[in-house]
Amino acid sequence: MERPVTEADLTFDHVPQTDQSFENALEKARDGDRLTVDDAIELFTTGTDGEGIDQRRKERVLEAADRRRAEVVGEEVTFVANLNNNVTTACNVGCLFCNFKDAAHTFESDAEVETAGFTKTPDESREIVADAVDRGIYEVTSVSGLHPAFALDAEQREILEAHPEPKEINYKPPERYDTSPGTYTDQIAAMSVDGVHVHSMTPEEAYHARRGTDWSYEEVFRRLKDAGLDTVPGTAAEILVEEVRDVICPGKIDTEEWLEAMEAAANVGLGMTATIMYGHVENEAHRALHLKRIRDLQDRTGNITEFVPLSFVHQNTPLFEHDVVSSGPSIDEDELMIAVSRLFLDNVDHVQSSWVKYGDEQGLKMLSCGADDYMGTILSEEITKRAGGGYGEFRSFEDYVEMISSIGRVPVERSTDYEKRRVIDPESPPFGPQLGPNADGTPLLTEDERAERALPADD
Ligand code: SF4
Repeated sequence: MERPVTEADLTFDHVPQTDQSFENALEKARDGDRLTVDDAIELFTTGTDGEGIDQRRKERVLEAADRRRAEVVGEEVTFVANLNNNVTTACNVGCLFCNFKDAAHTFESDAEVETAGFTKTPDESREIVADAVDRGIYEVTSVSGLHPAFALDAEQREILEAHPEPKEINYKPPERYDTSPGTYTDQIAAMSVDGVHVHSMTPEEAYHARRGTDWSYEEVFRRLKDAGLDTVPGTAAEILVEEVRDVICPGKIDTEEWLEAMEAAANVGLGMTATIMYGHVENEAHRALHLKRIRDLQDRTGNITEFVPLSFVHQNTPLFEHDVVSSGPSIDEDELMIAVSRLFLDNVDHVQSSWVKYGDEQGLKMLSCGADDYMGTILSEEITKRAGGGYGEFRSFEDYVEMISSIGRVPVERSTDYEKRRVIDPESPPFGPQLGPNADGTPLLTEDERAERALPADD
């Protein structure tokens, strides 16, 4: 049996070395000049002329990013009333940073072990979303594992069923499972309750939804849009550099295909977000190259509304369990990731701080390092919790107003695309959403429900 790769085995072609100096790079950032990959490496490392992070230099980078944030978006901190409704955890792609998935074969009716995961039917999704829409959410976000029985629609199902080697294209018929996720278009249509905004179908899911066919990504996204899809989450990006993907997610689509899918989504008129998942095996050169690919994509499309740095949560992941990494990123790296994203991505207005990844205190600090968006209420959150993140599942409008006001900034409820914005007066409780199709300003959860959710999870 092959020995698993370990941290000591990793040698990359891209390394954080440049001919640029930290001071030059910082001056360019302060002047608002477009930064190069080398500039970004200097800022991420606080200079390649020394080992480790220089704290004084780091503070200067954060300050420059905070100033840029104020120039671009002012003092408002936005957030959205949203629900996470992930359809299934069944997946056999085997990404080594992920512990959201449950091995797809454990979901089969004749499996010897009982699966620890879940799959929802379209009817179950509709019910969950309908409840949240009544409570006042604006958006439902849905990102799922690549369940082998998931098909785009009836037509793709027919093609998959007729395939001579379905295993080769990662397909198994729904009858093999206790619960079938149905089709992507049925799930999207089911979640599209009363016109709530549906944010779903990452490039990886779009790939799954076209497997076995010769359809273009445009065709796939057009069908999804017709079913009710509004915007696309630019997750599954991880690090858009092949030598890193080869280590952490060899089963995933490559950088070019990810970019192709995103461009296709933009071409059919879908808005989108972009992400980076950092702090595992990659170095600062990879982070900088990733940012360049996102900025280039935005130059071509203009459809990216926000950039979301996702700090790697290492607990319970194969990368950690196999000793490929010993931890996630440091706080210094987290802060510099936010700051350099703000400075480098001169064509993306919003940078998000995630309380799920950073926690409340550090999440708030990120709003002074270049971030201006504080994500969403997330009525349910499975992904980070299953990977060992410990920051809970829900933030109320009251929590948001209190946190954002405590740092002297302005709380603003937003729509997914930031077009609708509602400034909230901290002196006028109660605080509840008003932008969703059925939102009337009532808090999302009652006092009792909030108290119940605040109890520690038992897993
Ligand atoms: S990251 Fe996504 S594709 Fe990869 S194993 Fe996890 S659920 Fe599957």
